[in-house]
Amino acid sequence: MIGNLIYDYCRELFYINRSITGNGVRETLKSISKKVDNFQIREVPSGTKCFDWVVPEEWNVKDAFVKDEKGNKIIDFKENNIHLMGYSKPIDKVISYDELINKLYTLPRFPNAIPYITSYYKKDWGFCVTENQKNNLKNQNYHVKIDSSFSNGSLSYGEVLIKGKSKKEIIFSTYICHPSLANDNLSGPVLATYLAMHLQKIKNLRFSYRFIFIPETIGAIAYLNENLNNLKKNTYAGFILTCVGDNNNYSYLSSRSGESICDKVALHVLDNLKIKFKKYSFHERGSDERQYSSPGIDLPFCSVMRSKYGEFDEYHTSLDNLDFISSEGFEGSFNIYKKIIHVFENNYTYKTMILGEPQLGKRGLYPNTSTKKSHNEVKDLMNLISYSDGKKSLLEIANEIKVPIWDLSLLARKLIEHKILKKV
Ligand code: ZN
Repeated sequence: MIGNLIYDYCRELFYINRSITGNGVRETLKSISKKVDNFQIREVPSGTKCFDWVVPEEWNVKDAFVKDEKGNKIIDFKENNIHLMGYSKPIDKVISYDELINKLYTLPRFPNAIPYITSYYKKDWGFCVTENQKNNLKNQNYHVKIDSSFSNGSLSYGEVLIKGKSKKEIIFSTYICHPSLANDNLSGPVLATYLAMHLQKIKNLRFSYRFIFIPETIGAIAYLNENLNNLKKNTYAGFILTCVGDNNNYSYLSSRSGESICDKVALHVLDNLKIKFKKYSFHERGSDERQYSSPGIDLPFCSVMRSKYGEFDEYHTSLDNLDFISSEGFEGSFNIYKKIIHVFENNYTYKTMILGEPQLGKRGLYPNTSTKKSHNEVKDLMNLISYSDGKKSLLEIANEIKVPIWDLSLLARKLIEHKILKKV
């Protein structure tokens, strides 16, 4: 089961300390490069101006903890890396109980969950703990140590282009900046890895496929800053891969127009696989479609997710862990994206080569015995011929006659063999 492989890979990468920059991102990308051929890892130097933003200093952490007066580590980054507020500045100091309490972040609503907090653009420090952990602290002094560093380094990202016959690209973009958090977000990069591996095994692809692994927001902005012309020239459709690991819900977030080809393909797949899903409009966006689809950039991106970011209780907490996601969750997501790819690969436009209705019987296309199944197949065949005017795409015909495109494309193949249809 492919879901098992993806889940195991997620577990393998789960404990790496990722952020928007730093060695954790590089380690993650290096691991992916061992699975995906021709995977490119690129670096954008700190201080690079990208549109309205500047690539921040690179952040790395060796260790971080809080010790009580007896020397017991009561908060330990090495136990769970989300204990440390992302981008915390270094500190090594004994502080009072009151000072420590002011630097702790908790989630009173979920007293057993550690929240995930970052402070990328304001230099600060802090620890994230459970509400229960905070309530158990005694009034004493604490030794706080954060062995972190900021340097003039770079922001790392990865990408791979899998070339098809057409230069037109279908883009899958995913982010790689969260530490030990599963559905949001490691599920995205690991699914993207396995989709890329899957596509690299297919010969004669019609479209080209680009997989982009970037830190969220600043990474997308840095990527667009470097690659905007190419993206504008070649992008046919785009998907943000995120929140694809749990097995609770399916969600779809539309592109800005809601009517781009990525929306049409995603909705066709979800509807025809008879999957129950919650539909979100572009107002409810929250990931890198914010950058890809901003005015002037105008690239069509939508998302098919499981439980959407911000919509599940475990989101951005220690409860979004390896228990929250599952092999079944990944299996479902993988199969949907495989189907989405299948639709793009098969959505041709056809034209009939015969005036009037072709005589199916003399070509052996008309069943000798009439059953309900054969009746429906002839109906679909005749409908396909009738709508194949060289203008309507197979997807449009499939929606019109309410047949999954993956069934219709088999019929189209048959009609091509019998020289009734041709591709335009
Ligand atoms: Zn997130």
